[in-house]
Amino acid sequence: MSFSHSVKEELAKHTNIARHCRVAELSAILHFCGQYGKDKDGVFWVGFQTENESTVTKAFTLLKKAFNIEADCPVEEEELELLFETMGDLSEPVDESLLRNNCCKRAFLRGAFLGVGSMSDPEKGYHLEFVCTDEAKALQLQEIIGEFHVDAKIIIRKKYFVVYIKESESIVELLNIMEAPVALMNLENLRILKDMRNSINRKVNCEAANINKTVSAANRQIEDIEYLRDHYGLQNLQPSLRQMAEVRLEYPEASLKELGELLDPKVGKSGVNHRLRKLSELAEKMRT
Ligand SMILES: [Zn+2]
Repeated sequence: MSFSHSVKEELAKHTNIARHCRVAELSAILHFCGQYGKDKDGVFWVGFQTENESTVTKAFTLLKKAFNIEADCPVEEEELELLFETMGDLSEPVDESLLRNNCCKRAFLRGAFLGVGSMSDPEKGYHLEFVCTDEAKALQLQEIIGEFHVDAKIIIRKKYFVVYIKESESIVELLNIMEAPVALMNLENLRILKDMRNSINRKVNCEAANINKTVSAANRQIEDIEYLRDHYGLQNLQPSLRQMAEVRLEYPEASLKELGELLDPKVGKSGVNHRLRKLSELAEKMRT
């Protein structure tokens, strides 16, 4: 199952107790992907443009709970009137009077995601979007997301207005607003794993670079000292340089600090560096 699909399943299972929230959620599903009306015989019909079964199931559950309208059952005229009156024209954005409470705004976002939302698998990247057929609806969605301090953007794709969020933190926040705690936790775990993997990689790369640098510097020093040994004679060096040269040859893998401790008397890192540089300069002079 895709991540997006599991988010929808979780949202579909979420049930509000308050009628105002149920109405707000249903209004979002209907306005974003639904259609309804009466046929020529006066029979009520409702349809949803979605491939997601849990969205349809949720919509029917809400129709039953908030308006007492059941599939495959005759509908009372009164109940239909109430539904039409409450929901209004589905080609328009949702009536603001349905979205006064914060709880209802959350429910609205839940319904919108169930209707036209999707998100990419977080292993591959962070992207959450709502594909709207209408600019006014996209703007309403953006505004309500913004009321929760999450910044959503709109892009026009073909004939659609796509409200999207790209930052992982904002996506986590939106999952929180829509009340999808399981998806939120899964996303957070993936984020932590990803961050850890990245920082471990960075550390390994960094350490490898340092080791390479030490090794190649040591190799150069040893080459220079061997050149001096073969063309000048280490016994001809002044004592401090001679000792340095011998220790370097004997401990090719030692760091500058370790070399300094092997000298008698001990010398600090910069002292070692200074002596090794002198040896290299001397070798350089001899070569030319
Ligand atoms: Zn509410």
